[in-house]
Amino acid sequence: MPEIRVVSERCVACGDCVSLCPQSGSDVALPVLVLAENGQVEVADPRGCICCFTCVEFCRSAAIMITGALPAAEGQPDVYPTRPVSRII
Ligand code: SF4
Ligand code: SF4
Repeated sequence: MPEIRVVSERCVACGDCVSLCPQSGSDVALPVLVLAENGQVEVADPRGCICCFTCVEFCRSAAIMITGALPAAEGQPDVYPTRPVSRII
């Protein structure tokens, strides 16, 4: 299971990672990332992470770090087709 860390000191609470993550959002039963009431992004359930690294790539503050990614992640499709068009910013 990947270990996802959000550095709160860097996060500006833009919510982009939550919006772009294919495994997060209101339409996902067990979202990986959630925007907490205090405005900070929290890792809710890392088990759903498919290690696409979209959140890492698009975080404007380089606030997300993922370690321990599963080798199976190498077989994942490219990050771009996995992102719903409606979520592109
Ligand atoms: S994309 Fe980065 S800065 Fe924006 S909410 Fe997510 S972790 Fe914070
Ligand atoms: S690596 Fe992909 S699936 Fe995992 S939290 Fe980031 S955007 Fe979501």
